[in-house]
Amino acid sequence: MRNETVRKAAVTNETTTTYDVIVIGGGPVGENVADRARAAGLSTVIVERELLGGECSFWACDPSKALLRPVVARADASRIPGLNPAVAGPLDVEAVLAHRDKMSSYWKDEDQVDWLNSVSVDLIRGHGRLTGPKQVAVRSAEGDTIALTARHAVAVSTGTRAALPPIPGLDAVRPWTSREATSAGKVPGRLAVVGGGVVAVEMATAWQALGSQVTMLVLENGLLERMEPFAGELVTDGLRETGVDIRFNTTVTSLAREDGEVRIALSDGGQLAADEILLATGRAPQTRDVGLETVGLTPGDWLTVDDTFRVTGVDGGWLYAVGDVNRRALMTHQGKYQARIAGAVIGARAKGEDIDDAPWGAHVATADHAAVPQVVFTTPEVASVGLTSREAERSGRRVEVVDYDLARVAGAHQYGEGYRGRARMLVDTDRDTVVGVTFAGPGVGELVHSATLAVAGEIPIGRLWHAVPAFPTLGEVWLRLLETHRG
Ligand SMILES: Cc1cc2nc3c(=O)[nH]c(=O)nc-3n(C[C@H](O)[C@H](O)[C@H](O)COP(=O)(O)OP(=O)(O)OC[C@H]3O[C@@H](n4cnc5c(N)ncnc54)[C@H](O)[C@@H]3O)c2cc1C
Repeated sequence: MRNETVRKAAVTNETTTTYDVIVIGGGPVGENVADRARAAGLSTVIVERELLGGECSFWACDPSKALLRPVVARADASRIPGLNPAVAGPLDVEAVLAHRDKMSSYWKDEDQVDWLNSVSVDLIRGHGRLTGPKQVAVRSAEGDTIALTARHAVAVSTGTRAALPPIPGLDAVRPWTSREATSAGKVPGRLAVVGGGVVAVEMATAWQALGSQVTMLVLENGLLERMEPFAGELVTDGLRETGVDIRFNTTVTSLAREDGEVRIALSDGGQLAADEILLATGRAPQTRDVGLETVGLTPGDWLTVDDTFRVTGVDGGWLYAVGDVNRRALMTHQGKYQARIAGAVIGARAKGEDIDDAPWGAHVATADHAAVPQVVFTTPEVASVGLTSREAERSGRRVEVVDYDLARVAGAHQYGEGYRGRARMLVDTDRDTVVGVTFAGPGVGELVHSATLAVAGEIPIGRLWHAVPAFPTLGEVWLRLLETHRG
């Protein structure tokens, strides 16, 4: 029998059950906070209102990458002589969607519940709300309320939802958000994608390859505006080559659904018709209904934290916010890193141990400021870590920008014909270390961890010179960047 069942039976409406740690939200981050707190010897419960595993497992990372993997693999294979005829036809849409369903565990969380049981963390199904310091009330789907008390800490890991702009007619058209874009069972004939960030470019890539005619409506003058400009330019070229219509400096002024069709009025006075419209226009924190007002915070706000994930502005240091909800880095791997740190620091504080909070110490998330890796799974891929040149300039650091044409690397010649790509390395000239790297090109996703090691490890350039990349791999770009830097 699963613990969630036992726990429900054991708790009555009038009883407060006390745990050392209560985690509200059982996404990838909440699960890891709980796992680490439990490993530190603390009794721990997760409160989850939907599926254990959160957005990432069911409506974000896993399904989106399952949709994109065949697209990226086919693009790579199509550049290899002898293999290209084998991938010339369309994708087997049914098989891709079936694989996506499998990778999303058919939107069931039994495996994750089993794992939670195996690490002895309890689960309570329902909507969790703070009701005061260290107090949480859980409202179950059946309408029962369960009261919980935390001995040491409450961690809010409630993640984000799609942020929708206030467009007239929006509600009536029932737009796609990232949820529908990752879980839809039918390919729309025409798909309008509003936005130019990571979700927009990845989903435009996937649905165009699955057979939609995609039109991107982008407010800005380029894609992936938070990254190095060449990344967005290469992705723009890649999308256009597959037939995506990209319109920059364009906003949606109103929407209507007529005769089953979405009618989109554009800022340039034009009109566009589509079968579905995806709004990939950012994320908002899920904090509107978690009782923030009972502890002096404002509902709906992002939760600001210190480097040990304690929420600022709350007395007593018992409230933590970990993962997307604190806005530090909206990615699963970084949220799970935060969770490992938060779980460890909650454990150390509970036991009265010393806190190792010097930069890069065991109890602070220094990498959130210096070394956040990201991969964009488009054709071509983009991979980055650390600062961009724009961010370095804003920070006032003295930085040398080193660029290299990835197509000139021997490994790129082997990778496929007509390889196009670019690499940029930022060297802090005062410290002689790498503080940022961006790669754009086929296959670069697997390069990013080498860059993360260089940036997080603050490896001196003189020592990196001795890290020899194997021939003929894309990794040889490191040698070329270092040679360019050394002149
Ligand atoms: C389309 C898309 C693709 C993505 N792809 C990637 C990727 O490839 N790699 C990557 O690293 N990141 C990716 N991300 C980002 C990633 O999904 C998030 O960073 C990650 O899910 C954050 O984890 P989290 O645990 O903080 O929040 P979430 O995953 O959002 O989980 C929060 C959980 O809290 C629960 N909850 C909320 N409020 C309450 C409440 N009051 N009571 C009880 N439970 C509550 C929710 O039901 C949910 O289960 C992607 C995002 C999107 C939208």
